[in-house]
Amino acid sequence: MFIGHFAVGFASKKFAPRANLAVLIAAPLASDILWPFFLLFGWEKVRIDPANTRFTPLDLVWFPWSHSLLMTAIWATVFAALYYAITRYRAGAWVIWIGVVSHWILDWITHRPDMPLYPGSARYGLSLWNSIPGTMIVELSMFAFGLWLYARATRAKDRIGRYAFFAYAALLLAAYVGDRFSSPPSGTGDIAWPAIIAEAILLPWAWWFDRHRERTDQSARAVIPAISPSTDP
Ligand SMILES: [Zn+2]
Repeated sequence: MFIGHFAVGFASKKFAPRANLAVLIAAPLASDILWPFFLLFGWEKVRIDPANTRFTPLDLVWFPWSHSLLMTAIWATVFAALYYAITRYRAGAWVIWIGVVSHWILDWITHRPDMPLYPGSARYGLSLWNSIPGTMIVELSMFAFGLWLYARATRAKDRIGRYAFFAYAALLLAAYVGDRFSSPPSGTGDIAWPAIIAEAILLPWAWWFDRHRERTDQSARAVIPAISPSTDP
């Protein structure tokens, strides 16, 4: 899953409006942010196999440190605890925890059975990726719903808040559709580096336009009551 994880990040803004969108997107992407680094370090393994599923040429041979359910829950706890220690924003910390764990659930739905529960365990997956229309319908409707929630929970303060947000959504969509027509990568570095570069652009970009938007009543009503007064991160 690709833009489905972004959808979770956008939707999170409704439930933690004081958290910056970049942090809310980094949470559901956390497993995929760690994964290219772990590939480069040689801790995880991927094989190029054009016939793996209809949707992806990647055979995810070994990736329990970024993608097992146990490690995902541990990363979620580390991320949420760090965020809470810095911001004291309880709603934000909960939404981050749920966001990080949501990655496993969404990947479990889309991947063929390659998702481990813990390093070395049996692996599971519902193989939605075997159907291109099925995958695209699920991910695109999630993406539309996430964008809609975000657009209702915030409003642009200026042109950056409006157009940098539109451009961001359009680029993600174009990358998602364009990926259907690209040829399979030829090696691990071809997979890891573009992913790292994409994240280094997409996260600061989300931070930027989110700072140029402000919350609306739609988000204020949905705030999970935070006990301690929190600071805007
Ligand atoms: Zn993943």
